[in-house]
Parts: sequence; structure tokens; C-alpha cells
Amino acid sequence: MIITLNEHTTEQQKTEIISYLKSYGVNISVIEGTMLSVIGLVGDTFSIDIKSIQAFHFVKDVQRIAEPYKKVNRMFHPLDSIVAVDGIKIGGDNPIAVMAGPCSVENEMLLDETAFEVKRAGATLLRGGAYKPRTSPYSFQGLGIEGLKLLKAMKEKYQLPIVSEIMDGNLLPEFEKYVDLIQVGARNMQNYQLLKALGKAQKPILLKRGFSNTIEEWLMSAEYIVTSGNSNVILCERGIRTFETATRNTLDLSVIPIVKRKTHLPIVIDPSHATGDWRLVEAMSLAAIAAGTDGLIIEVHNHPEKALSDGAQSLTYQNFAKLMEKGRQIAQVVGRKF
Ligand code: PEP
Ligand code: MN
Repeated sequence: MIITLNEHTTEQQKTEIISYLKSYGVNISVIEGTMLSVIGLVGDTFSIDIKSIQAFHFVKDVQRIAEPYKKVNRMFHPLDSIVAVDGIKIGGDNPIAVMAGPCSVENEMLLDETAFEVKRAGATLLRGGAYKPRTSPYSFQGLGIEGLKLLKAMKEKYQLPIVSEIMDGNLLPEFEKYVDLIQVGARNMQNYQLLKALGKAQKPILLKRGFSNTIEEWLMSAEYIVTSGNSNVILCERGIRTFETATRNTLDLSVIPIVKRKTHLPIVIDPSHATGDWRLVEAMSLAAIAAGTDGLIIEVHNHPEKALSDGAQSLTYQNFAKLMEKGRQIAQVVGRKF
């Protein structure tokens, strides 16, 4: 961290800020220029709040040189983290994990049929929302605990670990019981109480990027979970809000190589919520594989027009199977197991 002091900063003010900075236990060097003085800090600067330094009225500027996150930073953990979801390893050079299933769990028959079909096509996890974050309170809100129980039954029947979204930290015991990978949705990426609660979970976490959040904010949210005790975090890009209206969101595929440079955590791509349009899901999935994704999460519904949520972006069984076939080919070209 580099702190620049204003011209005319007195010796007493310098002593004051230096003794404040020393309380953080960092190494301090002062460079005296003819006009300005610069203080360089090295060491564990993560807990220093830039704003508190800017509050000294004789401080001209403060800049961080290292990222504000530590545990998820690749600098401190050069090897890829591998996250095991009920025995399925995600990240590193493990096979690309495909999580597929309906947006919402609707009923047992449909979930059973979908689980069978996605498994047959090669999916490795079953997705399904039981607690749905809907924009309208009048829309289908999900089956709640009954939905989680149905998912668990399908897991046992088809040997497909389950991914499902949590919205309320008080439900963590139920999620621990029924779900293998606990999803934090885009709307809750900065719900810090929830993130801290999930830091105490025994199950891995799928952390979606908020639709208006920077990569740094997203990684800081991952840092909350890891620093609260749970290092099993997988990131998920699901599109961000831009001025473009042709798609539901804009899929930021460049995050794959960027995130891989910045962090050791695995990343998966959600082309369904990113595009909002089933016609775009295959192309974006293949592009994500080519760009180095560790996994995909895809919505599948065989009667999209009757789906209780997100039908327009859901693939039929047949289209999902086609995507899987092409995915295998692209993965082979880029030297990734699928
Ligand atoms: C979902 O996965 O069903 C979902 C609601 O996703 P997001 O939080 O990305 O909108
Ligand atoms: Mn959905």
C-alpha cells in the first residue's frame, strides 16, 4: 500500500499516521521528497481500511498494490483448488462438471424424468431450485422443503449429486441434509450474513456473481465464505447487466481466464441465466469450454412453454443431449476431460 501525504504535512502529523499504521503490524518505509512524502506499507495490509487512512486530512492519496483478498488469492495458493462435491472433483484438470436440471423443482414425475435424461446425456450433477428468488411475489416461489426432499430422492435413484439455492441462512441444517452443493444466487452474492453462515457449512458452495458486481467484489464475497471456515467454494458467472437488451444479461466469458489468474478457485458458467434464451445456450456453453471453464450449469425442461420458471432459456432433453455431444468434441480439442 502506498500513502502520499500532502505538501506541508508537519512532522507531528507524520508521527501520528506512522504510529497509527504501526498498530497494524506492517513494515513501513518513508520516502521524503522535496514536496511530498510517501509512505510504503508491506506485510499483512488486508485488514487496513483505505477509507480510515483517507480520513487523515493531510493524506493526499492511498493506493493498494495487492488485491484486498488473501485466502482466495492465487498469489498465496498457486495451485488450482479442487472442490469435491459428493466425490465429484471440480477444478484443476478434472473433467468439466455439467450440472443440469430444471430451474425449479415442479413435481416428482417431471424431476424424475429430467434427472434420468440429463444423466443419460452425461450430466454429473442435478440442479433444481426449491426456494426461488423471483422478481414478482406473485410468481411461483418453489416447493420449499418438499422440493429438497424430491431432489435428494433423485440423487439416490440416479447417483447425481444435487445443487440447489439457499436464500435464508436459517435453512442451512436442511440444506446440509438434502443438498450436496449449496448455491448462493446472484441476488445474494453480497448478503454477508448468509456468506458468513455458509462459512460454517460442511458442504461446498457455488457462489454466483451478482449481476452488477465487479470481479473484485465477487472474490471478496468468496473471501467471506473462506475466511469464515469453508474453503470449498466454486465461482459461477451467470451474466451481468449491461445496456444490451437482446439478451437477458451479458455473458462475461472473459472472466474465465481473468479469474483463473486472480484466484485458485474453480469457475463454472451458467449460459442459461446469462442469455435468457435457449437458442444461445449451446453456443455459449461451447465457447465457455473453449475458454477453460471448469463446469457448466444448464437449465433443462422438456416442455419449456409449461415451465413454472425460466422456460424461455431451458433446453429440451434432445437439445441438451446435442450440446453434450458437441461439448465433448470441443473439450477434446482444448485438451480437457469431459
Ligand atoms: C437459478 O440458478 O435458478 C437462479 C435464480 O440463478 P441466478 O441467481 O443466477 O439468477
Ligand atoms: Mn432459473
